[in-house]
Amino acid sequence: METFVCAGCGRIYLEGAERCGHCGAEMEQRQASGRGVVYSFSSVHMGAQGMPTPYLLALVELEEGGRILARLADDASEPSIGDKVVFSGLSDTGPVFRIL
Ligand SMILES: [Zn+2]
Repeated sequence: METFVCAGCGRIYLEGAERCGHCGAEMEQRQASGRGVVYSFSSVHMGAQGMPTPYLLALVELEEGGRILARLADDASEPSIGDKVVFSGLSDTGPVFRIL
C-alpha cells in the first residue's frame, strides 16, 4: 500500500497531501507492505454521524514502523494486542485492516 510519511513528525497518512496536516512539514511517499500488528484497540459505540456502530478502531503498528489509526473489518471478532493484521482498503471513513 502507498503511504505518505511526514518528514517532520513522522506521522503516516494514506492519502497524499503536499504538507503534513499536523506540523506542516513536507511529505515523503513510501511503499508499505500493508502488514502490521494491533498495538491497541477500542470498540466504538458512539461513532461519527452515519457510521454504523459498534465498530472496532485500532492503532496499527506497521511492519515498516509507525502507527496509524484504522478501523478493523466488520467481521472481526474481539481482537487481541499483537494480532497480525493486513490492510484491506480505504473506506469513506479511512483505512480498514483485517485480522489475519
Ligand atoms: Zn508532520
